[in-house]
Amino acid sequence: MSSIGKGITAASIGKILKSKGFSVTAVKFDPYINVDAGTMNPIEHGEVFVTDDGTECDQDVGNYERFLDENLSANNYATTGQVYLSVINRERNLEYNGKCVEVVPDIPNEVIRRIKAAAKTAAADFTIVEIGGTVGEYQNMLFLEAARMMKLGNPGSVLFVLVGYLPIPATVGEMKTKPVQSACKLLNGAGIQPDFIIGRASQPIDAPRKQKISIFCNVDPKDVISAPDAASVYEVPLNFANDHLGERILLKLKIRPKKRNLKDWEDFVSSIHSSANPVKIGIVGKYFESGKFTLIDSYISVIEAVKHVAWFFKKKPEIVWLSAENYEKDTKNLKELDEYDGIIVPGGFGNRGIEGKIMAIEYCRKNKIPFLGLCLGMQLATIEFARNVCGVKSATSAEFDPKAAEPVIDLMPEQKALIKNKKMGATMRLGAYDCELTPGTRAYDAYNRKKMISERHRHRYELNNDYRQALERGGLVISGNNPQKKLAEIVELPDHPFFMAAQFHPEFKSRPQRPHPLFREFVRAAIANSKS
Ligand code: GLN
Repeated sequence: MSSIGKGITAASIGKILKSKGFSVTAVKFDPYINVDAGTMNPIEHGEVFVTDDGTECDQDVGNYERFLDENLSANNYATTGQVYLSVINRERNLEYNGKCVEVVPDIPNEVIRRIKAAAKTAAADFTIVEIGGTVGEYQNMLFLEAARMMKLGNPGSVLFVLVGYLPIPATVGEMKTKPVQSACKLLNGAGIQPDFIIGRASQPIDAPRKQKISIFCNVDPKDVISAPDAASVYEVPLNFANDHLGERILLKLKIRPKKRNLKDWEDFVSSIHSSANPVKIGIVGKYFESGKFTLIDSYISVIEAVKHVAWFFKKKPEIVWLSAENYEKDTKNLKELDEYDGIIVPGGFGNRGIEGKIMAIEYCRKNKIPFLGLCLGMQLATIEFARNVCGVKSATSAEFDPKAAEPVIDLMPEQKALIKNKKMGATMRLGAYDCELTPGTRAYDAYNRKKMISERHRHRYELNNDYRQALERGGLVISGNNPQKKLAEIVELPDHPFFMAAQFHPEFKSRPQRPHPLFREFVRAAIANSKS
């Protein structure tokens, strides 16, 4: 079922198997026709995650990277649109030798080819495949068909996991198993019998209900695994381990574990629990309002990156959403920024909320509040500095005003051509690029005085080098540069407790047990600034 934690489930199963000494990779299939995950609205679809090779993908790939501590790539993600596109392209290249190309088996075969390619690239002992959407819907049928065919071809090495929801209606006060039973029937209808049923619920599943699910869904009660609500997603592998999921998987596949060791993960999770004093971080953004609900999925990697580093310092992360548009309505609202230990302005697109974010950055700069800008946040920090320190009063980005007189942030010529030809899918500056750090800067120290680092990008606009001198003369330090394209990557202010902004997205490379250096230094400064 959708939105109940299939991604975390897949990632957690992978983590358990990895802890038993195996190499693991994971693949996500999204049922959308969209070929590019990058063109989907983050409010509808959550964050667009980016891998080193520049693949724009679903946020679950971020979960896999964080749990498995592996770098994934284009092999680990596909949409229905991509699968069809590759079959159609192949057919048009005459690679099917004039044969009639059909939905079944050619589409499922392409899905299987992709799963095998992912396994091969990663030299994986285990490949976890997550099928997006909900069983029974038309959208993901061909992926289920691929799964069924894969089992038929490899009966001893394919296992199925159904993730189902067990509601406890307030008026009844009892955990109901019917939704899981129906989901299982629907899966059976697709020719698939689950080997495991993972029951998402607010509580662990008790013995009578495990028994019930066992009888109605035709699985051993030992293979009904509890997935109770957890204070942190990083507890989920430990919850599964309590129900011996790893051992049960290996038993079914007749494989011996190479080692048993979730110990370092247990230590990490207990450090989460023992983190008591808060560090309060405000995120000034816009992709989190949806009617009466606050959706945080749009910034999931930023949130996780803050959490990783807060726990590293044994602090409890307190993350608060601040709406940039409030500052535009009334500048008095900016005062609320004083309540935070540090402020992040994350990535984003388009005009809405821009001026409010610029005001927030100016406020942080002048009031010495630790500030971290990410991608758009870096562009806006540069614009703010140009306007208010360097006297370039009408400084802006060509993204907000294509005819801008002072495009401090502008398009590179190759991007201009792409936009003119409406080639918008997967054409931003994407994925890993080198960044050369300037010795003596805070960024250089943060990265342990490494001269060259690599970080992931996802943006179209850049700091316009025509303004570089003016900005530097005003006191902005450009501490990271891409040597090949001569582009600014990091800006910082030396006379401030912490004011740094990166054109790339450091959040994509933060891992639970290896927090990102820029987030680490930002949160260190936030803790030093702490009011609590
Ligand atoms: N909209 C900006 C650009 O395209 C920033 C993108 C981002 O924040 N990811 O350059």
